[in-house]
Order: sequence, then C-alpha cells, then structure tokens
Amino acid sequence: RNPFKITVIGSGNWGTTIAKVVAENTQHFPHLFQKDVNMWVFQEKIDGENLTDIINTKHQNVKYLPNIDLPENLIANPDLLDSIKGADILVFNVPHQFLPKIVESLKGQVKPWVRAISCLKGFEVGKKGVQLLSSYITDELGIQCGALSGANLAPEVAKEHWSETTVAYQLPKDYKGEGLDVDHKVLKALFHRPYFHVNVIDDVAGISIAGALKNVVALGCGFVEGLGWGNNASAAIQRIGLGEIIKFGQTFFPESRVQTYYQESAGVADLITTCSGGRNVKVAKHMAKTKKNAFEAEKELLNGQSAQGIITCKEVHEWLYTCEMTDEFPLFEVVYQIVYNNFPMEGLPEMIEELGPIE
Ligand code: NAD
Ligand code: 13P
Repeated sequence: RNPFKITVIGSGNWGTTIAKVVAENTQHFPHLFQKDVNMWVFQEKIDGENLTDIINTKHQNVKYLPNIDLPENLIANPDLLDSIKGADILVFNVPHQFLPKIVESLKGQVKPWVRAISCLKGFEVGKKGVQLLSSYITDELGIQCGALSGANLAPEVAKEHWSETTVAYQLPKDYKGEGLDVDHKVLKALFHRPYFHVNVIDDVAGISIAGALKNVVALGCGFVEGLGWGNNASAAIQRIGLGEIIKFGQTFFPESRVQTYYQESAGVADLITTCSGGRNVKVAKHMAKTKKNAFEAEKELLNGQSAQGIITCKEVHEWLYTCEMTDEFPLFEVVYQIVYNNFPMEGLPEMIEELGPIE
C-alpha cells in the first residue's frame, strides 16, 4: 500500500505538540508515512499576520506553543476540507467544545477507510447519553477511531522532556490483515519518540474516561490549594477522584478495564501530573485566590487556551442528574456546584461527607 498520509486537526498547545511529534516520525518512516503532515489551524491574526503564515515561515506556533521549533514538513492549513485531502489518518486534537462543528463540516467528506485518533479529553453528552469522543467521531463520520491520552503536559512534551503516553485502538471488524490497515504497530511508529514513550492497548474507553475526568478532579485540587490547605488536601481530592473515575467507568462503560486506570499513563499518572501542574489546577487556584469565576480565570490566565474541566464537570453533572446519581459522585458534583452555582469552596469536605464517601 502507499504510505499513510496524516492530518492533525487542531493547533492549540497540545495540537501543535502532537503535530510536531507526528511530523518528526513521518520523516523517520518514509515506507510507512508520507513526509508532509498537514495541520488544520483555526485561523487568527497575530499582529496583522495570519497564524498559518507565521507557522509556515517561522516554523513556530507563536501563540499556542511559543519558542518551540516545529519541523518544516509540518504544514499549517486554515482550510479544514483542504487539509484532510488524501489523508488516511486523522489526528483530532482540539478543545472538545469545538468538535461538533468540525465534525459537521467533515460529514460526507471522509472515506470509510480513513482511520482516526482522538487526543481530546472530554465527553459528548446528548441524545445518545454520555459518549466517548472517539465513539462520537465514529458515529458521525463512519470511521474507526481510537484515542491517545497520557500524563502529558504539552509544554514538557514540546521541550522533549521524557514522558509516557497510552494509545488505544481497536481494529475494525473488517480488518484485512497486517500491512493493509492501521494497526498497533503503525500507531506506535506514528506517535512513539525517544522522549515520548507509547504503550498501545485496546481499552479506548478506559483511557478516554480517565483523561476526561481527571480534569474535573484537578479543579478540585486547585480549589483546596488556592485556599491554602496544602498537599494533604490535594492528595485527598486525588484519592477520592480516582475512586469516582473508576466508578464512573465501571457504571457507564463496563467495557473499560480497572487495570487501565491504575497501570496506564492515561490513568493515575495523568491524574497526578494534571493535579500538579496542569491548566485546570491553575485556573481553579486562581478562582480560589481572586474569587473570579471559572470563565474569567480561564481568560485571564490562559491566553486563548482552554481548561476542559470547566465544561466536563457540567457534562458529567448533566448526565449524572439524568441518571439520578449525582449523590454517588460527590466530588464531581461539588466541583460542578462550585463552578456553576457559586457553592463556597470551603464547604467542599462537608459536601463530600454529606453526599457520602464512595464505596
Ligand atoms: P488549547 O487549550 O491550546 O486551545 C486553543 C486552540 O483552540 C487553538 O488552536 C485555537 O485556534 C482553537 N480554537 C479557538 N476557537 C476555536 C473555534 N471556534 N473552533 C476551533 N478551534 C478553536 O488546545 P489544546 O491544548 O491543543 O487541547 C486540545 C485537547 O487536548 C483538549 O481536549 C485538551 O484537554 C487535550 N490535552 C491538552 C494537553 C495540554 O497540555 N495542553 C495535554 C493533553 C491533552
Ligand atoms: P490541563 O489541560 O489541565 O493542562 O491538563 C493537560 C493534560 O491533559 C495533561 O496530560
């Protein structure tokens, strides 16, 4: 078969970092991948100049990943449909609130043999209940979709500091055999770097649930840290959070495996790194210190980047409310109440106790 052509859809902090990883690997495996990697960019002007022009000439994403040199075979493209022309593998990497519009534009434009990997962290809550974003992409576009998730703060990966990640992918039922389709070996070649160690498994649900929900837990950590309660309180939030993540997975996605939460980079390791230094924890700390709301704090701190926990805690609340199960996930519920209903942060331990500790 011809080498796979890759398009990365998204160019934020993580989108650009993953595009860099992929474009480095396509240079190394010419028999597997076409060298040039397209990156779809949501166009904006920086000092009067198109961001895509800056990326294609300066080879830096000056807004979302400043001071990191990008490979010259990474081509920024502001036209979504043009950017996916001829692509065999689509790597989705945008803040998940923008996914439905992107998918809507792609409907009917993607051939069924195209494969996708979602690097997004979040859920889609709609008519079909709570959905993994990979399943949403599959349902909307009719293509097989896996996920990439791990303990991966983008600025560290971009600087090529060592980390691990998990890729999860299930071969489609009509898989024709090695070499003809995207398989675990192809995915490892696409994402593994000396500084970015990939483990490929098939538990798409497990890694996606862990990746989405740790952002909600990180908000909880930010609240208690911002209140000055210290490391013990943060560790308590992470312990309770891990329990709720596993319970959510076992309740709504029984196909996810408990060992994924404990053993994979996408599980407990991502919880730890996000709660230590991620954007969600920073935003929540800022809320605690300044009494600003979540959206103001996100705007003030992140220069156009997103803290996905803000949206995810609402999605989780809406789903649990529909299921009449908010009481069974007290940490997720209290984070939602703090972000959306001005519940006082200081009341967090009492509310967790009142609603009942997780079994
Ligand atoms: P980001 O938070 O940097 O968001 C900025 C991006 O959103 C920019 O590319 C911007 O152009 C785009 N954008 C703004 N308005 C838009 C619109 N209307 N339509 C489409 N795009 C628009 O994004 P990110 O850090 O690349 O995050 C992408 C996903 O990766 C998220 O689900 C995030 O949780 C996950 N993730 C992030 C990190 C990280 O450290 N940044 C690490 C792992 C996973
Ligand atoms: P934040 O979005 O909180 O920075 O977390 C990034 C992440 O997902 C690390 O793996």
